[in-house]
Amino acid sequence: MQSANQFIEDFLIKQAHFFQVAGPLSCGLGERAEAVLEATESLTGAAVTTSGSGPGYRQKFILERKRDSWKIKEVQSECTACFIRAQLAGNANNESCEDCGGAGWCPQG
Ligand SMILES: [Zn+2]
Repeated sequence: MQSANQFIEDFLIKQAHFFQVAGPLSCGLGERAEAVLEATESLTGAAVTTSGSGPGYRQKFILERKRDSWKIKEVQSECTACFIRAQLAGNANNESCEDCGGAGWCPQG
């Protein structure tokens, strides 16, 4: 079975192709190569963090095991407020964050 890491790398390649085809409409989206930063797998699913649009704008894909492959269950965005706070304070004390409730990640869409 494909690893969660490989599944998301394939997904990112397909997404980059889409933006290439979309051309001028994409307004520069997809120009920067998005890469997998971290992948953790469990018995039931996986979480894969990618570089997104850069620091403070990373993405996290929550995956579900689906027979011999994976299914994207949820995509989360890095909480930019927490990221900036961590940069300023030097630590990620985000428990009182109004945006993400302390998780550091916000549901997308
Ligand atoms: Zn936050």
